Amino acid sequence: MAVANTKLLLKTFVLMGVVYIFVLLSAYSMFKSYALEENQAKLQDLIMHNKALHTYVEEQLKPVIYALKDQGNIDKDFFDPKLLSFTYMSRNIMQEYNKQRSANKIEEIHYKFASNNPRNPLNQANAHELQILKEFSTNKRDKHHEHMLTNNHEYIFYAMPVTTNVESCMQCHSAPQKAPKSLVEQYGDKAGFYEKVGDIRAFVSVTMPLETEFIKMRRMFKLFASILLILLLIVFGIIFYFIKQLDHKDAKLLEQANKDALTKIYNRHVFNEDLENMNNQRKSIGQYLMIIDIDYFKSVNDTFGHATGDIVLVQLSEIISKNIREHDKFYRIGGEEFAIFSLQNTLEDAIEFAQRLRNEVKMFSFEKVGFLSVSIGITILNAHDTGSKFFERADRALYNAKNTGRDKVNVLLDS
Ligand code: GH3
Ligand code: MG
Ligand code: MG
Repeated sequence: MAVANTKLLLKTFVLMGVVYIFVLLSAYSMFKSYALEENQAKLQDLIMHNKALHTYVEEQLKPVIYALKDQGNIDKDFFDPKLLSFTYMSRNIMQEYNKQRSANKIEEIHYKFASNNPRNPLNQANAHELQILKEFSTNKRDKHHEHMLTNNHEYIFYAMPVTTNVESCMQCHSAPQKAPKSLVEQYGDKAGFYEKVGDIRAFVSVTMPLETEFIKMRRMFKLFASILLILLLIVFGIIFYFIKQLDHKDAKLLEQANKDALTKIYNRHVFNEDLENMNNQRKSIGQYLMIIDIDYFKSVNDTFGHATGDIVLVQLSEIISKNIREHDKFYRIGGEEFAIFSLQNTLEDAIEFAQRLRNEVKMFSFEKVGFLSVSIGITILNAHDTGSKFFERADRALYNAKNTGRDKVNVLLDS
């Protein structure tokens, strides 16, 4: 793959990786916020049920009991929290509710009725709860929720005030003398009295561990992350495919620009470039230029036709390609003229190499045509050579070979 395209692919990969991480981080916080909001809504719903129970006790249950008392069916000093205390009922219902949760392998929630003047010390508000209660009383809020981290466990805390004191509450919460005797006997005459109609006496709160909810949330998040990863990999695969196609086209274009269409070896354009660069890339051993020209090629065309002449050119390229070494570079620089840039230790090696090429060609029987010969001109790159001087000298060497009988190697070292 072309370096530019590999870099583009790498950049795309890194960019997609960064986007993936960014989306995951944003999505995680969104998933978490969503889980929190969902659970806040659940807790609000739970507290609303609880408040409905409070209303039922105050508005439906207590009037019946008080009427029974007024009618003398029940002793006027009768008091049993199971029938008359909303907080007692609520706490017991919550205990039952937690048992149901445990049976269904869901963490229990913590329920609390918090008051600044509780009858039952269990319901005494702590400093934090008193602060919340104060905010409820001053009408700053009608609900309060917090996301808490305690001992590495996350919780959600949700609180709502119970309804404001009404007249029916005063039967038990004004002066102890007015309260049923059995209530005072059970709870004493200190706590839970002297309330006023209109005051907010307490709030109900639930604290729920988020472990189970977050496990669910993380499961969803993992699913989302996997789907996103698969989508990104598909997109990357598509990009990879198109870049590969582009690469293929690039390689084809490069081949068209650099290779000779008939023989598939390097063309004159590459030869000229390499010739220009020769001086900049000097090697420690001899850099030789060999120009090879087929002898009497015109008569091949004339006798056998141009198409056969083409086959000769292809076969000749194959013979020479097979006989050059890895660091030699072979070009078609004209109609039936070829060139080789070759690294050789000594002039003798270079001549021997050229003679071997000449012999290989000479021994080969070309299709339809039979045997042919080539003339080769050789020169070595001198210290002050320019590309054109180097080429002209090799060309002159070839010219000498042609003029002195052909089918030979001629060397020209100095201008
Ligand atoms: P010499 O020994 O002096 O080199 O004689 P020659 O006949 O080879 O002379 P010259 O090099 O001038 O002739 C080259 C001929 O090569 C002329 C042209 O018809 C032929 N030729 C050039 N390009 C192509 C080609 O692509 N295909 C074919 N078949 N012939 C070509
Ligand atoms: Mg020729
Ligand atoms: Mg020629």
